[in-house]
Amino acid sequence: LTNRILVAMVGGILLGSLINLLLHSTGISDTFRMLIDEYLVSGLFELVGRVFVASLKLLVVPLVLVSLICGSSSLGDSARMGPIAVKTLGFYLATTAIAVSTALVFAVLVGPGTHVSLQSDASFQASVPPPLIDVLVDIFPSNPVKAMADGKMLQIIVFALLFGYAISHAGEPGRRIAAFFRDMEAVVMKMVGILMALAPYGVFALLAKLFATMGIGAILDLAVYFFTVLAVLLFHGLVVYSLLLRVFAGLSPAMMISKIRSVWAFAFSTASSGATLPVMLRTVERRLGVDNSVAGFTIPLGATINMDGTAIMQGVATVFIAQVYGIDLSLTAFITVILTATLASIGTAAVPGVGLITLALVLEQAGLPVEGIALIIGVDRLLDMVRTAVNVTGDATVSVIVGKSENHFDERVFLDPNADVNPD
Ligand code: ASP
Repeated sequence: LTNRILVAMVGGILLGSLINLLLHSTGISDTFRMLIDEYLVSGLFELVGRVFVASLKLLVVPLVLVSLICGSSSLGDSARMGPIAVKTLGFYLATTAIAVSTALVFAVLVGPGTHVSLQSDASFQASVPPPLIDVLVDIFPSNPVKAMADGKMLQIIVFALLFGYAISHAGEPGRRIAAFFRDMEAVVMKMVGILMALAPYGVFALLAKLFATMGIGAILDLAVYFFTVLAVLLFHGLVVYSLLLRVFAGLSPAMMISKIRSVWAFAFSTASSGATLPVMLRTVERRLGVDNSVAGFTIPLGATINMDGTAIMQGVATVFIAQVYGIDLSLTAFITVILTATLASIGTAAVPGVGLITLALVLEQAGLPVEGIALIIGVDRLLDMVRTAVNVTGDATVSVIVGKSENHFDERVFLDPNADVNPD
């Protein structure tokens, strides 16, 4: 399946680019152009792609709920939950701060905005962020059913943790409910497996549609910015995570990469950590060997708050916009960017393009013009796809490190290239 997904990914990109060329060439008739555009690109590809994303999203709430309830109920007491939570949060914040710092250093060295002339028609309307107290209070659900209906991930996490904790302290009834949720988890995971089989078609359609309609010209105009972000994303995704895995868990990064390759195709084609969550959770538990009690917590939490790739884009974008507007950034401004980009990535929803919206927050705090965002919108979708792959890789790396250090990890599963516990 991994190979089929990767072939679909390359095929979708190639066919999409070919259609793009065709649609922009003068050699074809308008009727033919209309037919391709209407029936193939905006018809078939759009349909298959959207159904695929919807079917992935459909699994998120049930999976997070049952898997987290299973995890926290099997951990039992808060004494074991505490270190897992503290380590996970610590790693998530630290890796994001490293990501944005690296981005700032690269961007200052490369100077992506120094040769770009300002386009005066740029416009971007920033939305007003809610007060911090509301953000914090909003983590605690007053109505769990509403939280699930609205897909409020942090609220679902809080409810599931509490519920799992209560299960483990409720004696015999608790044991019965726990058995029910374990069965539910197996069934929902089975659904993930079934829908994964459709992935080659979904990935192909999403990428073919995207590349057929994407303006490649925008990338040429912003080539230095684009490739600076891309370089830092690759550096962080391949080098930094590999080092962390080696140093903190003593494990082979090559093995992890070979196992999460197919998950990258989901992240890349959907540009959404949220839509990638079910497949990532399944891979981390069944192929990387992290116990459900850890992965059930770290992966949903990571998909929601840990966005290193997003922070990288925001770091480079800040320097880029400052350079385009000819504003010198002070040391205080750099520190402000590190802090706000780390926090902004927590507040970034796990759906396409939101990193660009929370960038407004970072720019505002650093005293830079928010409308500068309009300059980079044109190339953001492609970067969004790559940064989402980095975002989810960060979640997997931290899950393995925390799982290993807390002894909720099966190294034999990790080391076995063909491991797939309970294959579907
Ligand atoms: N698309 C990203 C994600 O879902 C968020 C962003 O950077 O816009 O992880």
